[in-house]
Amino acid sequence: MREDTGATSRKGLWRPELGSITVAILTSLYLLAITNQSFWSKGWLYLEGRPTTFASIAIGVACLYIALCVAVSVKYVMKPVFIVLILAAAAGAWFMDQFGVVIDIEMIRNAAETNSAEAGHLITPGFVLHMLIFGILPVVLLIWVKVRHRSFFRKVRSNLAVIVPALVIALVAGLSHARVYAAAVRSHHDWFETLNPFVPLVTAVQFAVGESGNINIVAAPLGEDARVSDGPVTGRKPRLMIVVAGETARADNFSLGGYERDTNPELAKKDIFYFPQTTSCGTATAVSLPCMFSVYTRAEYSHRKGLATQSLLGVLSHAGIDVEWWDNNTGDKGIARLLKVHSLINSGNPAYCSGGECQDQVLIDALDGWIGSVNRDTVLVLHQIGSHGPAYYQRYPEAFRRFVPDCRSADFSDCSREEIVNAYDNTIAYTDHILASVIDRLASQQDRLDVSMLYMSDHGESLGEFGLYLHGAPYMIAPPQQTHVPFVLWLGKDAKAAYSADCLKEETTKPQSHDNLFHSVLGMMRVETKVRDPALDIISACRLGATS
Ligand SMILES: [Zn+2]
Repeated sequence: MREDTGATSRKGLWRPELGSITVAILTSLYLLAITNQSFWSKGWLYLEGRPTTFASIAIGVACLYIALCVAVSVKYVMKPVFIVLILAAAAGAWFMDQFGVVIDIEMIRNAAETNSAEAGHLITPGFVLHMLIFGILPVVLLIWVKVRHRSFFRKVRSNLAVIVPALVIALVAGLSHARVYAAAVRSHHDWFETLNPFVPLVTAVQFAVGESGNINIVAAPLGEDARVSDGPVTGRKPRLMIVVAGETARADNFSLGGYERDTNPELAKKDIFYFPQTTSCGTATAVSLPCMFSVYTRAEYSHRKGLATQSLLGVLSHAGIDVEWWDNNTGDKGIARLLKVHSLINSGNPAYCSGGECQDQVLIDALDGWIGSVNRDTVLVLHQIGSHGPAYYQRYPEAFRRFVPDCRSADFSDCSREEIVNAYDNTIAYTDHILASVIDRLASQQDRLDVSMLYMSDHGESLGEFGLYLHGAPYMIAPPQQTHVPFVLWLGKDAKAAYSADCLKEETTKPQSHDNLFHSVLGMMRVETKVRDPALDIISACRLGATS
């Protein structure tokens, strides 16, 4: 029996008739060809116009779209789903293609929180015309077409006959240039975020689900009992501790830890403590960074708990310590909420900055202009760009091209593994220089300030071991190169007199981790609070005459 014979004959209206698979394939090709201009043009740009790589991703993505659309080509489901996809894609295409925006969580958050007057400014005649042509017209055509559906079992068989080969082709196309895609996607997060309409729709759903759970989370105060044990600064020097939060530096390439290349020539000359067995909390910034500044250990930490609790910086400020976060990376991930956050990326200093990024010397210059004004107990966090890949070569200036030939591309397929490692090692040697510069600046103030520096990287990096590059592997299966991070402690002359060097040396022989950062910084700043766990404070344990 034909599903809609009655309706058709009653109205006497001629309607073209197409099979459900044909309609699904036509819809998927429409979405890809008409509403994905941004995706294709970014892909062409980011893959640097390599025709075969581009063709393979085009085939792979087309096969995925076809598989998805055929999978929902079921009577009563198909048309409503396709109508939503077409309208969402038309609207998404307008904003992405016209304004170059990426419809990410923040964008959707903005849209959700906007008022109707603001939203009204977006509904322009151009938008209405665009929606009529690319949204309403194809929807009318879709409704007009009479879709021929097969019986259930025949449909399952015929749909699978399309879906399975499509998925196999997509997989083969994806694997054939996996390394190029991985590098392109990593360095250009905005690329796949423009895959219309699926990524914007999935993001919107994630936002709705995530917000329903997280939107009302306010970081609960932590350590409100905190106080500095030797009181306000009277009769002693103010303490200044600089915590350098590193980026993508792996311990394996630190000569301080035994790497055969001299990547730490400057730190090696400083009187520092290096902890060679330190592990990270995560393998990506979004996890590691909030985790290392949180009261929770790696075993206890979750994104939600991190959002729901004040960080180390909150506890320090409860104790009356000045706290600042200077960012030369992608932000503080909520760690420094309500505190002073100073973004150096926007400083636009042409000596160190280009294309929206700055080399870390920008932090040292800012330090020079600031350090003389410090006259209270202060903790300053410097969030480095460090060894952020894959464009390692952009992290260091010409003078730090020590290991050559260095890979001068963000696309690893342009370089040999040796060139990639050379560029990476240059970033480590540059970080060595930055850390030594921080120490020099602190040392210059030690007649009036009690100074110290603690450096930890957020996570490591893969450089071709097991065929992997970059980072972000699930922690349970992550290679040690991604979780083994450098940890450096330097004490100024007052701090040095207050601690047993032998005891600290002993600590460097033990395994340490991001779990220790929160408690050790509190210990260094002499903060007493019930949230400090002395067992995780590796520094107070070595204070001369200390009880805990
Ligand atoms: Zn990171």
